[in-house]
Amino acid sequence: MFVVPKGTPGMEQVRRLDKLGHRASHTAELSFTDCRIPGDHLLGGTDKLERRLERARRGEGRSAALGTFEQTRPMVAAMALGVARASFEYACDYASRREAFGGPIIENQGVAFPLADLAADIDAARLLCWRASWMAANGVPFHLAEGSMSKLKASEVAVRAAEQAIQVCGGWGYVSDLPVEKWYRDAKLYTIFEGTSEIQRMVIGRTLATEAAKGPQHHQLPGDHGGLSRRFGHGSLARARAGEVFMKLAKHAPQSVLELGGRLASPGR
Ligand SMILES: Cc1cc2nc3c(=O)[nH]c(=O)nc-3n(C[C@H](O)[C@H](O)[C@H](O)COP(=O)(O)OP(=O)(O)OC[C@H]3O[C@@H](n4cnc5c(N)ncnc54)[C@H](O)[C@@H]3O)c2cc1C
Repeated sequence: MFVVPKGTPGMEQVRRLDKLGHRASHTAELSFTDCRIPGDHLLGGTDKLERRLERARRGEGRSAALGTFEQTRPMVAAMALGVARASFEYACDYASRREAFGGPIIENQGVAFPLADLAADIDAARLLCWRASWMAANGVPFHLAEGSMSKLKASEVAVRAAEQAIQVCGGWGYVSDLPVEKWYRDAKLYTIFEGTSEIQRMVIGRTLATEAAKGPQHHQLPGDHGGLSRRFGHGSLARARAGEVFMKLAKHAPQSVLELGGRLASPGR
């Protein structure tokens, strides 16, 4: 990917695209004709590109099997979850306050059940998103397309939540006085960019014959279940005491001693 500065000869902005949603964010069609871009405009630089290509050729590196998209997709999932939660919370609030036929509409199963499904589905998508984000942060390889899973589920639940929010708000939901019609338009993009839902399913599908077939989707976490030392056991009294001692020492100990302590307490990889 290259950074092309504005005003580069040969680059032209053809038109601004008129979108269904995300209208505050501009998206434009660009054309490049005999456009010369210096090598040092390569994002990340040529050395980094060479190193990554070399790792890919050897089939190594972080997430080499599935590429860097696995690490960026949880970010899109998080954005989609924001829309999903906003829509869901708005719908619940509206349904609790709007009265029809003698009571709040949320007391009807026809209104409450789809919201109950959404509550569970949004939480499930959020857990997928947290898992994938944790994996990216800790350098755990994405063998089962966990990043794609998070993006697929979060984007699709965002579309459903926004649609349901319109339904719950009735006629007002369709009118731009309420924010839900905007969230509906915005939500749809998440099933398209950074790989469409079909592409996410393709990516996940490709892992099924090899990785997923090996057994249940339990991750072999580094050390003793994640970033916790076996010596101090997660949630144990020993860990709590060690933490207290460490906090006291941290006020006086030099940085080098603290780093050594941190290395001893961290799990083996
Ligand atoms: C607002 C906006 C912002 C964007 N921002 C970015 C950005 O920042 N960076 C970037 O790189 N891209 C960006 N995109 C582009 C976006 O990622 C692509 O539009 C998207 O990946 C789909 O590609 P396409 O439009 O070429 O659709 P197509 O590839 O033409 O696909 C059309 C349909 O066919 C389906 N399809 C295609 N191939 C298959 C297959 N093999 N099996 C099953 N179904 C298939 C697709 O899922 C889709 O439903 C943006 C798009 C929009 C609308």
